[in-house]
Amino acid sequence: MEHPSDETLKRFVAGTAARDESRIVVAHLLKGCASCARKVRDLMQPDEVRRDLYDSVLNRFDRGLVEGLESSISPVQTLRTVLNRLLEGDHQPPPSRKPPYRES
Ligand SMILES: [Zn+2]
Repeated sequence: MEHPSDETLKRFVAGTAARDESRIVVAHLLKGCASCARKVRDLMQPDEVRRDLYDSVLNRFDRGLVEGLESSISPVQTLRTVLNRLLEGDHQPPPSRKPPYRES
């Protein structure tokens, strides 16, 4: 598989990538490339990723994720949605999980 270069990924995260570049990155991630997904996520601020928020955003973007890039939607925000889905179960537990405390 051909991967986007690190520079391309950095530009994408910074929001300075050209539209075609952004599309390539998103299309690549949509193919399920977890290694690039991790790279991009490492480039982003982890604490800005709110799963609860993106779960609802996800529903909106599912139908036309790439088309969304053509409009006013922030590519990075769109990407975070993709990342959350790609890396689901990789790191964070599902949001429906109860806090790990026990009754005493
Ligand atoms: Zn890749």
